[in-house]
Amino acid sequence: MDVESLYQDIILDHYKHPRGRVLLAEPSGESHQVNPTCGDEVTVQVALDADGHIRVGYEGQGCSISQASASVMSEMVDGVDPREAESVRRAFVELMHSKGAAEPDEDVLGDGIAFVGVAKYPARIKCALLPWMALHDAEVRAGIDTNAEGAQA
Ligand code: ZN
Repeated sequence: MDVESLYQDIILDHYKHPRGRVLLAEPSGESHQVNPTCGDEVTVQVALDADGHIRVGYEGQGCSISQASASVMSEMVDGVDPREAESVRRAFVELMHSKGAAEPDEDVLGDGIAFVGVAKYPARIKCALLPWMALHDAEVRAGIDTNAEGAQA
């Protein structure tokens, strides 16, 4: 199996079996984002748990790229330190702007590496980025400090 079809399988698997696709009981921030060109919608909620780790909830509808991306986001970001979540988010945004030429780091992006081919198709980049935009907006609304610089020990 070549890498491209392997990556397609990963995306389809997240689409068919979304991880963590549930809304939070007590979100601190929420963002609803729409991608009108494709008809994708996603709502992302965030809160911090007692350990200061970010909890992520979401729901959505739309194409396989947008919904699989939301599933990967949940898998990579739920339960981690907000600054770590932000470095994952930045790595994914960077990957989507790579025009498919990047060599994504699986240690950072997990199944997010499967989206490298999506970055070759400008119309699909918005689909892939939608949940990550919603994540960032929800964090801002929740007042969660995601600043990766400075505060790190
Ligand atoms: Zn889409």
